[in-house]
Amino acid sequence: TLRAGVIAVQGDVSEHAAAIEHAAAAHGVAADIVEIRQSGLVTDCDVLLMPGGESTTISRLLAREGIDEEIEAHVEAGKPILATCAGLIVASRDAKDERVQTLDLLDVTVDRNAFGRQVDSFEAPLDVEGLDSPFPAVFIRAPLIDEVGDGVEILAEWDGNPVAVRDGPIIGTSFHPELTPDSRLHDLAFFEELAVEA
Ligand code: GLN
Repeated sequence: TLRAGVIAVQGDVSEHAAAIEHAAAAHGVAADIVEIRQSGLVTDCDVLLMPGGESTTISRLLAREGIDEEIEAHVEAGKPILATCAGLIVASRDAKDERVQTLDLLDVTVDRNAFGRQVDSFEAPLDVEGLDSPFPAVFIRAPLIDEVGDGVEILAEWDGNPVAVRDGPIIGTSFHPELTPDSRLHDLAFFEELAVEA
């Protein structure tokens, strides 16, 4: 069984849970979804998902509950994380916004809401490294990834900007891979590269 923690202090949880279960089933593995709203639960998780939502709120609640340090320990242990949209903002090195205490797990900087300033949300077919056909990517007030560290692999770009990146055990996306019935990003983050022993 894959023990998958979904950070649930704020933001969308059920769609991610469904995508993880779907990806796990394709590998013949059962997924045990753990909704994380307090400390003490992350340690037992094999993989972690940091969903979208409102990064200022998520960051504040993670710090208040002491979950932030547990996520950092999860990465130190080399365990996978998929961080999407606001989750990517919180996982970044710097969001250039004092209201967001970033966890510095992914060596990128982001500009909150810059990407979707003209068009608030849109869907685009995206070529993603490691996937053999375009991924339907839904962008909702998406963060712009503006600086990318040397060790960071760019998995996808849109309009000349990186929108999916990998830094060691972490994959971060500006878009929402849980909002379409396509679980290949969850699969890539949790099963393909860093094959989790089930
Ligand atoms: N713009 C939001 C933020 O800054 C993120 C949007 C999202 O997760 N859909 O937190």
